[in-house]
Amino acid sequence: MLDGLKNSLGDAIKKIVKSSGIDEELIKELSKDVQRALLQSDVNVRLVLEITKHLEERALNETPPPGLSRKDHIVKILYDELSKLLGNESEFDFKPNKQNKIILLGIQGSGKTTVAAKLAKFLTRQGYKVGVVGADTYRPGALVQLRTMCEKSGVEVYGEENNKDSPSIVKNGLKHYEGEPLDVILIDTAGRHKEEQDLLDEMDRINKVADPDLALLVIDGTIGQQCFNQAEAFHKTIPVGGVIITKLDSSAKGGGALAASAATGAQIMYIGTGERIDDLEKFSPTRFVGRLLGMGDIQAVLDLAKRLEEEGDDVRMKRISSGKMNMEDFLSQLEEVSKMGSLQGILDSMPGLSGMVKGDQVDQMEGRVSKWRYIIQSMTKAEKADPEGLLNSSRIKRIARGSGWPEGEVKELLKNYKNSKSMMKASKGRQMQGTLRKMGL
Ligand code: GDP
Ligand code: MG
Repeated sequence: MLDGLKNSLGDAIKKIVKSSGIDEELIKELSKDVQRALLQSDVNVRLVLEITKHLEERALNETPPPGLSRKDHIVKILYDELSKLLGNESEFDFKPNKQNKIILLGIQGSGKTTVAAKLAKFLTRQGYKVGVVGADTYRPGALVQLRTMCEKSGVEVYGEENNKDSPSIVKNGLKHYEGEPLDVILIDTAGRHKEEQDLLDEMDRINKVADPDLALLVIDGTIGQQCFNQAEAFHKTIPVGGVIITKLDSSAKGGGALAASAATGAQIMYIGTGERIDDLEKFSPTRFVGRLLGMGDIQAVLDLAKRLEEEGDDVRMKRISSGKMNMEDFLSQLEEVSKMGSLQGILDSMPGLSGMVKGDQVDQMEGRVSKWRYIIQSMTKAEKADPEGLLNSSRIKRIARGSGWPEGEVKELLKNYKNSKSMMKASKGRQMQGTLRKMGL
């Protein structure tokens, strides 16, 4: 499915890039080409019309930003609108102090059991305490497979060898974990060969027993057109909150992602890129669309993305110098410093770090950067945006566990972060902005 989509979208872009001038007729033609490509790929008609309506409106009415040609701008608009369909990068939104139950749905062979083990490891490394319930009663050996994979990350798997009734295993499993200090319980389920009614009925029963906080639909990325129907059938039975597309390491160029996302309205959260336990990646809509449009043909878009990124850096600098930095900004400044080497003068002029690093501390800087990088990476998006507001002792404990550093180190990082921030606030950044300008930033 994706190959066809990729080719026809690529052709549409070539037409724009090769044209001698952009006029209304050409924009309408592009719109028609895009419609055809998306409809052939089973994307919902309403969505297709919405995308192309925006494409036409923006292409006709928007003035390209200075320095950007009309053609580049139109390619960028198409890129934007397709990315919008896939949504932003999304993250789990676990509630604190409770066992967040995630149920994995999908047909036999889609990769649920593998995803359960991969996610268990992924979340454990972020510092969450994870338990797994293995309720795949259909495939012989499924429980052993799951246990073997989870063992290495120290995650417990609850299962029953001689029970063929998935819903009762789920019920017993949740009871087994009751009162344990787990943040997440991953529930693996059985699957038949396709979205048959008896599978859906069983899912419905499991759903009632489990009362999950989130249902993740696991879809094999190589199945092409069937993605839409499969996703839709599951979604009707249990509302799908997120999608995982597996087997994107094979010849599939991203198979079914658009269709699955469109059928459920849920975002793709992760992709599986191999059989090993570490072959799980966060899904990036922008990278995916880049692949869809064909890298060779969208050099303009890539340049533009780079330019936008630089604008992003600009925004970051302004935020830091006005004393409103967050933990992401702090990390980016740390990384800058480690790239530059250890010149005290440069350190002193880095907004967000000034006053923090003195004399012999310079040598320790590198060590700190790598230590703190792990710690900051163990924070959630929300925590990074508002560390002062959110980081209480239980969260600090979790972050310490996830990063592999003691709590004292997390607190040390926080202390330094707060110091730097209040220093920036005090200087109101006026002086800093002057220094930055001098440095050509
Ligand atoms: P389930 O029936 O939904 O539980 O599917 P499984 O987790 O048992 O996976 C079915 C097969 O697909 C197994 O052989 C897995 O090793 C394989 N598999 C799962 N995810 C991926 C992936 O991302 N890439 C590749 N190449 N194989 C995968
Ligand atoms: Mg399985």
